[in-house]
Amino acid sequence: MHTKSQARSESDIQTVSVLTLGCSKNIVDSETLMGGISKHNLALCDAPEDADALIINTCGFIEQAKEESINTILDATRLKSAGTIKKLIVAGCLSDRYGEDLRREIPEVDHYFGTMAFDEILKVLTPDFKYDLLGDRVLTTPAHFAYLKISEGCDNPCSFCAIPLMRGGHKSRPIEEIEAEVRTLVGQGVKEFVVVAQDLTYFGLDLYGKRVLADLLRRISDIDGVRWIRLMYAYPAKFPRDILPVIAERSNICNYLDMPLQHVSTDVLKSMRRGITRRATEELIDHIRSAVPDIHLRTTFICGYPAEQTQHFDELCEFVAKTAFERLGVFQYSQEDNTVAHLLGDSVSVEEKERRCQALMEIQREISLAKNEQKIGSRLEVVIDEQRGGEYQGRSEFDAPEVDNEVFVRSAGHLSPGDFVTIEVTDASEYDLFGDLVASEAHLPA
Ligand code: SF4
Repeated sequence: MHTKSQARSESDIQTVSVLTLGCSKNIVDSETLMGGISKHNLALCDAPEDADALIINTCGFIEQAKEESINTILDATRLKSAGTIKKLIVAGCLSDRYGEDLRREIPEVDHYFGTMAFDEILKVLTPDFKYDLLGDRVLTTPAHFAYLKISEGCDNPCSFCAIPLMRGGHKSRPIEEIEAEVRTLVGQGVKEFVVVAQDLTYFGLDLYGKRVLADLLRRISDIDGVRWIRLMYAYPAKFPRDILPVIAERSNICNYLDMPLQHVSTDVLKSMRRGITRRATEELIDHIRSAVPDIHLRTTFICGYPAEQTQHFDELCEFVAKTAFERLGVFQYSQEDNTVAHLLGDSVSVEEKERRCQALMEIQREISLAKNEQKIGSRLEVVIDEQRGGEYQGRSEFDAPEVDNEVFVRSAGHLSPGDFVTIEVTDASEYDLFGDLVASEAHLPA
């Protein structure tokens, strides 16, 4: 293994650290880049201080994410000035969107690359560039789950969103390529696949002339060793309803769907250019819940969009209380350059946006507690993510990594990350469940 002390000259990069900011799509991009780095006989290391070269894969989605990216870059320039790292590379969404400004303002960075230029990064890391990025990944998630990116970009016209400006239009991956990736990852020990894209529901329209998410799900579900498939980021307008019987029928597709609604007032939805009304949204939710009775719906809402008057926000609160989503997240509106909504200004104060976010989450807190308490006494299948103190932390099929509930498991025997166990739920809080082990596949002694 290469160590930092073995580094010989300015051009001799032997160790590389990749720092990922932002969403799960960025994680997949970084993992693919890390796969390419390994193939070129460069060593990967976690700590930037131990690396000859540091790559920061940035996020430029909203104001908060941009600030985090810039602060991380500035911290890294200090490492470079101190001679700790030799090469500093900034890639990803922020670099794509503000590359020119960044080059001018932070010239200490050696190279800036956009989201579509990750192949080029390898060329500046090594004079022995041999392979393009082929999709071999170095997973950075726990070994038993992986994000599966099925497409890139987005064709939807949402007024507030800068993602299509950075990632371009929708580009589906061929089904065979995705299947091959799943088989490879299963071979590496992955059991849970979190299927991600900017918009899952559009999958296939560009490549096959029709929406074929249902076909893709069947094909992945048929692969031996795929234990859980979970769907994240489904755009509600023109939702492909043919995926619902597939979710209902297939035991290895989680009864879980993340469908960001962003708002519910028809006036606000129209201004947001979401292609759907309140009535159609409600009809869709009713349909999903009747087609997959046990489904746990996750959604997100934006608070403080410029067209959101007090009565629109009140309507949103009433809708959230009535609909009782199982999982919910909120974002403060962020006015983004070059988006359609930018022209509307940013009339809601930060304090008011924060107040609205907290008010929505307060409604959700009670809903979530009531739904969790209903689970006390029931049995749940849980995947173990890690050991924490004397307990094990895991998730049920209704919980995505990072964003949803955690399930804490008491077990007399030893459990390992990736074990699927059955528990009896004994207690519940707003966002967590607690339970005792009933059965474990692993049956390992204490
Ligand atoms: S569907 Fe999502 S990624 Fe696409 S434009 Fe709308 S908010 Fe942005």
